[in-house]
Amino acid sequence: MDYIELLKRGLKKVPEKIDTKERFEMPRMRVQIAGSRTTMTNFSEVSAALRRDPKHMMKFMLKELATKGSLSGTRLEVQGNFSEDMVNRKMELYVKNYVACPECGKHDTKLIKERGFAFIKCEVCGARHTAAKV
Ligand SMILES: [Zn+2]
Repeated sequence: MDYIELLKRGLKKVPEKIDTKERFEMPRMRVQIAGSRTTMTNFSEVSAALRRDPKHMMKFMLKELATKGSLSGTRLEVQGNFSEDMVNRKMELYVKNYVACPECGKHDTKLIKERGFAFIKCEVCGARHTAAKV
């Protein structure tokens, strides 16, 4: 698979129907907007499904949305109003950058840190790729 194909894959919407059990299904982030704040109510559930540190995911989300926020139990509360679609598009970007293996496209990966650098290590094909700094 070439790079362009990978990009296209990353941009594709998460399918609504999952036809095989092996296919990766990312839980959709649920969003509640109240006043001038937005709460992602199942933030820790999504991070657990992706096997990523919620703090790492939060750092990415806050940077992408250019806002401030904090974790509170299973939720992430941020300043400002962001739609569920927008939040989930950011999550797709997170998956593309920090979860999906650039080699085989599988999501069974680990994010590891070595000497200040982050790597995506794939448990399926063994590939190791540098991950961008959040
Ligand atoms: Zn792989």
